[in-house]
This record gives sequence, C-alpha cells and structure tokens, in this order.
Amino acid sequence: MEYTAKLKDYLMKEGADLVGVTDVQSLSELKTIPENLFSPFTHAISIAMQLPRAVFDFIVDQPTPLYSSTYQNVNRLLDEVAYKAVKKLQSDGYVSLPIPASQILDHEEWYGNVSHKAVARIAGLGWQGKNLLLITPEYGSRVRLVTILTSAPLSVDSPVANRCGKCMKCSEACPAGAIKGLSTKDYYKSRNEALDFGKCVSKLTEEFQHLPNVSGLICGICIKVCPWGSKLG
Ligand code: SF4
Ligand code: SF4
Repeated sequence: MEYTAKLKDYLMKEGADLVGVTDVQSLSELKTIPENLFSPFTHAISIAMQLPRAVFDFIVDQPTPLYSSTYQNVNRLLDEVAYKAVKKLQSDGYVSLPIPASQILDHEEWYGNVSHKAVARIAGLGWQGKNLLLITPEYGSRVRLVTILTSAPLSVDSPVANRCGKCMKCSEACPAGAIKGLSTKDYYKSRNEALDFGKCVSKLTEEFQHLPNVSGLICGICIKVCPWGSKLG
C-alpha cells in the first residue's frame, strides 16, 4: 500500500471519519495566521469527525448544552488524532504541524490559523453550502474538522461538486435571517456573498453564547436542517 493510503488507513483507525489531501499551492488564496504558515510544508491533510446524529434531534430553535458539550469533545478528539498523526509523520521523516481544531486568533473577523472548512473543500471532503459550511455527502455538515500541514509527499484528492441545487432549507430555518440563499458553482468569494455574516455573529454572540451551559460560538440550526446531514438516519 502506498504511503498516502497507509496514512489514511491509520487516521481512520484512530477515529477519523473522512480524510482528504491537497497540496499547499492549491491553498495559496487562503488567509493564514501567520502569513507564512504554509512555508515549511508541501501538503495539507483535512480530517473530519462526525457529530452524533441524535444530538441534533434536541436542537429546535437554539443550541443545547448537549450540543455544546459534544462539540467541545469532538474538537478535543480531533486535536488528539491530529497530534498522534503528526508524531507518526515526524517519525517517518516529515516536518508536520497540527492546526488546532477550534482556536480563534482574530476575534474581529473570527479566523484561526487557517479555515479548516476551506482546506476540507479543496481536499475533496465536500462542498461549500449556502450556509457557508462544508457539506459532506456522507454526514452533511454534522462534522468537525482539523488540518495537518506536512512535508510528506502525498497523493491529492479531487474536489466535490456543489450539490445544494434548489434547496433553501438552511436559509428558511436561520433564526437570524442571515443566509441569502444564493447558489454558487464552486465556492463563495467572500463570506458576505453567501451570508449576512454580521447577523449570524450577533445571534451567536449576543444571544446563544449567554444560554445556560452553552459555551463557545455555536448554533446548530443550519447544520440540523440540511438534508445531507439527516439523509442516512
Ligand atoms: S449558525 Fe445559526 S444564525 Fe448563523 S447562519 Fe446558521 S442558522 Fe443562521
Ligand atoms: S440546507 Fe440545502 S441549501 Fe443549505 S447547505 Fe444544505 S443542501 Fe445546501
């Protein structure tokens, strides 16, 4: 088995549900913190871990403590898988770095080191939905993501075509009226092309973040209603 296939097999055994690979040249348009984040590396590995489907059954019109806790646990598991994989890659001779699954560095624009969603889209895990989230054919957007940067010479994956079609479920369900419902063939050139991002952020920061036993900037509603997330169950 070639090295990429062996690595993917290892990651799936460690708990990943989806794994995709891209080269860093394909990520050159992405904003990074720091600006030279990609410079020691040749490839990026995107890992998705599914959120349990049942946690969304209890979300009606706001995030729940169950969702909040599950969200944090899956982020922690992703960080663990990425960390272990980096140790393995390093011992195989490749400079590698795990990017934290959920760490905001720019609190005005809500960016971390790099957008895990954008890396995942380019690495072929799914497409960018009308809600701006990564939609995977297998789990919809009921996933959390992490990225590993590496110098390992891996085989890259192909992008997935947008399959939102005429669906408007996320736009209709958004409690902030933030999702514009516009289609894109490949991806939105800016957040505001798809979303009134300020309306979404206000809903999360001014309302949902203050709910009892809910921490972090979470909502879950446009994730729950997406048919790609519920089609298997
Ligand atoms: S996260 Fe919530 S508020 Fe933001 S776009 Fe989705 S449904 Fe709307
Ligand atoms: S709910 Fe429909 S429009 Fe929104 S992301 Fe999912 S498939 Fe696309």
